[in-house]
Amino acid sequence: MKTCVAGYPRIGHRRELKKAEESFFRGEIGERELLETARSIRCENWKRLRESDIDSIPSNDFSLYDNVLDAACLIGAIPERYANAGLSPLRAYFAMARGDAEADLKALPMRKWFTTNYHYIVPELTESSRLRLSGDKPFDEYREALELGIRTRPFIVGPFTFLKLASYAGNLTARDFVGQISAAYRSILDRCASEGIDAIDLGESALVTDLSHEDVTLFSKIYREILSAKGRVSVRLHTSFGDIRDCWTEVMALPFDSVALDFVEGPGNLDLLARHGFPSNRELVAGVISGRNVWKTDVARAACLVSRISALSGCDPSSGRLSLGASCSLLHVPLSLTHEASLNPGVRSRLSFAEEKLSELTSIAAADDRARVNADTTADRYAIPYPAEWTRVPSRAERKRSQRPIFAFPALPTTTIGSFPQTHETRETRAALRRGEISATEYDAAIRRMIADCVSLQEEIGLDVLVHGEYERNDMVEFFGQNLEGFAFTANGWVQSYGTRCVKPPIIVSDVRRARPLTVDLAVYAQSLSPKPVKGMLTGPVTILNWSFPREDIPLAESCFQIARAIREEALDLERNGIKIIQIDEAALKEKLPLRESDRGPRYLDWAIPAFRLCASGLRPETQVHTHMCYSEFADIVSAIDALDADVITFEAARSNLSLLDALADAGFETDVGPGVYDIHSPRVPSVDEIASAIRVMLEKLGRNATAYDGLWVNPDCGLKTRGVEETVASLRNLVAAAKSVREGSGT
Ligand code: GLN
Ligand code: ZN
Repeated sequence: MKTCVAGYPRIGHRRELKKAEESFFRGEIGERELLETARSIRCENWKRLRESDIDSIPSNDFSLYDNVLDAACLIGAIPERYANAGLSPLRAYFAMARGDAEADLKALPMRKWFTTNYHYIVPELTESSRLRLSGDKPFDEYREALELGIRTRPFIVGPFTFLKLASYAGNLTARDFVGQISAAYRSILDRCASEGIDAIDLGESALVTDLSHEDVTLFSKIYREILSAKGRVSVRLHTSFGDIRDCWTEVMALPFDSVALDFVEGPGNLDLLARHGFPSNRELVAGVISGRNVWKTDVARAACLVSRISALSGCDPSSGRLSLGASCSLLHVPLSLTHEASLNPGVRSRLSFAEEKLSELTSIAAADDRARVNADTTADRYAIPYPAEWTRVPSRAERKRSQRPIFAFPALPTTTIGSFPQTHETRETRAALRRGEISATEYDAAIRRMIADCVSLQEEIGLDVLVHGEYERNDMVEFFGQNLEGFAFTANGWVQSYGTRCVKPPIIVSDVRRARPLTVDLAVYAQSLSPKPVKGMLTGPVTILNWSFPREDIPLAESCFQIARAIREEALDLERNGIKIIQIDEAALKEKLPLRESDRGPRYLDWAIPAFRLCASGLRPETQVHTHMCYSEFADIVSAIDALDADVITFEAARSNLSLLDALADAGFETDVGPGVYDIHSPRVPSVDEIASAIRVMLEKLGRNATAYDGLWVNPDCGLKTRGVEETVASLRNLVAAAKSVREGSGT
């Protein structure tokens, strides 16, 4: 059987691309040097793919920032303000990606790519957009590979997905661009023909989301147009992250030469094959190994899946019509295990990053099982809890009544989300501990000094509910991963999150357990410094799970409950030690929300919500539970958020138009809320008036009053870790002053 790869990590073994881009942005290197680094990464990847005997090798999967932005440039979807700013093409590209202060241009917005932690740049289509072939990138990169003697298959984000992901000015919709975009992609095919490119991939993962009848019509219309001009160029429709149930018939009715389907995240594709069969004149690329996770594929299981696919599709493995691929681009896993010498060998032997997945593919294709996995079978697995275990009693309304006299909050209590600025000193202290230059005792003393300063600063500013500042944490998930049992950490397992930003997720390698208290000492210390409540800070189980590579040998729900039990023990420990408010952050709750509405409950929320609730359900009614979310896009799951049964939720709001607050009011949302009153993603200090008027709008939208505590909190959007000290102090002073002025009814 043939093998196919649609995309490969492009950041480089040592994150060379990130480093080169950052020096370019700082003006330390020029365009030539940056492009040279990019070129050598591409060449290295192609050679690696060829050495691994992959049959279908991609090009144009490389990007200096993002593939959707690349597609926008390719078809001339560059908003006028960037195109007409007199910038070089590369500078205009980066201006769209990340803004350009000198040219006074803001970046285009960024959004999460399907269910991954990758973010794409949202294209903007307006009245003046004229879509037409306007770039050379795929053709240049094809030629570059050809010079190495490697024939590649350019991968381009497809027109339907492009239109689905774009934002539209005014009343424009995708339909207004059907003619233009079809013509643009026809020109791409013409150009391929004239360049001698005989095959391309069009990425259409938007097909795995819920599609309306109108969407499907739009899709068919665009592709009828495009494919009528394809000539000799072989076109593959490439989909990932789910099944294509809403458009199967239409896809198969179109003259694609090849269709790539995901059988890992889209088991529904197997049912579709069983029901409809597969056209006999077409190639099927079956995504049978996970492009999203880091475990070795169970070759025996994969081989079994392949034989079912082959039987149901009628594609005989020897016919050349069936190829094997990964479920999606390998962009979403780290590059290689070769730089992980310090990983526990038992764990390492069970892992497979992008490079290792290449040989898995070829060995499954050769039907040999060299790569057979040996699962870490664990003896004592935790059971799924009963509802009675995860239900907190009494009800939220009654808890409010018991908490009110204890805390005696003023109207509009002020607080922060948890972390305070991590200065050079904070990072240096951590690095010194790592290098063994200071002892654990010295480190602890240094952290305590920072906490003491932080607490007295907050008292002086006049905040009502304090935090310890999270100086001991590098990252909200890493800290828990390092201190709980069951996680492994790589040295170099970077995965691109957006542009030059990479994350290094921990890997859950066995059952998760709390061997000792994690946060209690410092929380108790911080509380001892002030008569005001200081929040105990925990990361929630869903976020820990979503920002790690999960196990594959047990269900996600089970892992999540294991983590939840560990966090629950920690929460109970905090309470026993006198902590009166406990915040359990679920920054990433929405990250793995299934793309399709009908999957959300059964495949996610039905265990994610109980897992969160399990953390808090053992706490006394007087203990106040807060949670925090890093975004405001939860209008579609408002009732699920309320069902978390927290007492207070803080979330991002300053950058949104606050329409979420209407949704909350409409839904009769019961949890007390702290919509962020200023944007912490920017160094700008918001004025007192600005914050005060934001608070007034919030009061009005929620129908609350400003004279007594009525469930509205005043806080920033998110943690302050990445901000500078000075701007943070100034912003928080203004925040406290604004709450005071609204409380006192002045300045209206
Ligand atoms: N408590 C965390 C902090 O303030 C929350 C971070 C987050 O939501 N991403 O840093
Ligand atoms: Zn946040």
